[in-house]
Amino acid sequence: MLRNFRGRSEAGARGEYPKLFRNYTDTADHPKIMVNENFQKDFCRHLIGWYHSAHRTLPWRETRNPYFIWVSEAMLQQTQVQTVIPYYGRFIETFPTLIRLADADIQDVLKIWEGLGYYSRARHLYEAARIVCRTYGGTIPDTWASFRKLPGVGDYIAAAVLSFAFRQPHAVVDGNVKRVLARIFEIDEPVNQLSAKPVYQSVAKRLLSLHEPDMFNQAVMELGALICTPKNPGCENCPMSSLCRSFQNRSVSQYPKRVESRSVPTYAVSVGMVQNAQNRFLITRRAASGLLGGLWEFPGGKIQLNETPETACLREIREEVNLKVRIVENLGTIRHAYTHFRIIASVFLATADSSEVVLNGPVDYQWVSLDQISQYPLPKATHKMVALFLSKMPIPYVIRHENHMAVQKCRNGSGSRADTVHSGQFVSHQGGQGHQRR
Ligand code: SF4
Repeated sequence: MLRNFRGRSEAGARGEYPKLFRNYTDTADHPKIMVNENFQKDFCRHLIGWYHSAHRTLPWRETRNPYFIWVSEAMLQQTQVQTVIPYYGRFIETFPTLIRLADADIQDVLKIWEGLGYYSRARHLYEAARIVCRTYGGTIPDTWASFRKLPGVGDYIAAAVLSFAFRQPHAVVDGNVKRVLARIFEIDEPVNQLSAKPVYQSVAKRLLSLHEPDMFNQAVMELGALICTPKNPGCENCPMSSLCRSFQNRSVSQYPKRVESRSVPTYAVSVGMVQNAQNRFLITRRAASGLLGGLWEFPGGKIQLNETPETACLREIREEVNLKVRIVENLGTIRHAYTHFRIIASVFLATADSSEVVLNGPVDYQWVSLDQISQYPLPKATHKMVALFLSKMPIPYVIRHENHMAVQKCRNGSGSRADTVHSGQFVSHQGGQGHQRR
């Protein structure tokens, strides 16, 4: 690509694009989005040309297998590429075909997904795989109408899978794409406002390359990930700078616009790690739908007004599993952030004389030894509670994870240590001795 002043292309430097903007006669109904045939062609040429030379090699880009692409796109929603890569590898290794996924136990699917968050994505993918097997004989439908109807398949996933796997002309619009378009056209509609979605969808559709929709979609998302980043965009090295209004008008820092989101509340909760006479811990399974649906956890809940953490713990256990327990140790607190709220959880070790559980809320329960807990799909907060418990125990414990990662607890002489959780696996940090992973 030819570049000169401020990274403009030769064509841009000759002033063709300002003229193009002034003579806007296209059919766009938006006052700032001016796209005619020449602009669209130049946009695709600059963008796709850059993509061919600069894109990252990622495992899901090496295939046209719609199932692999679907899995990757489900994982990539709200999640960074580097986080997804190992999860994608394990998932495809465990469920190498859609039929194998459909035949699996949902608990095994959630276990592989454990730590990636947004578990409804895993449940929907699993449910959709079963529908594809039942309705389409195991072949993923390649029409928008049929594919878009499947659980968990929204506009983004449908456009991504159909364009990447089948090269169909559907424009992908995610956060990266909206940020790029907002800056290139100085679009004032907030990118995080639902009512603005048609604006971004419309301009992406008008820019889309009909010859290479797959490359176009990959390229615009890659540009947002590598160059037109949320902070400190690399405008001087950007292939789109000659077409970018905010760059030309020095208004990049004003785009994209966002509506202010509400502050995230913090809830105080209380949780009991209840042991029975056989030293087994009680875990309960959440209902399949909703937050953390299908995952296992220790009983507990929000601390109500005028309650202490201890009384809240006793009440929650009584209400959820109808057990009368005795608190034997205050293990401390853990903090965890979900998408829309945070929790500070007081964690107690408690004993129960009886193992007779009556469920009220959870849909299943198990009494498990400490080393069995990790065989169940657990939320990250529950992992943190196990780590907290391990940090208080007088003897070494080792919990081996299904994915060969482990928790190791070795109390050192000073006793100063803390356990943290990374990507669903425990990392034990010991004062002055580095860290251990398995
Ligand atoms: S020139 Fe800057 S603002 Fe415009 S698309 Fe490129 S990186 Fe984004």
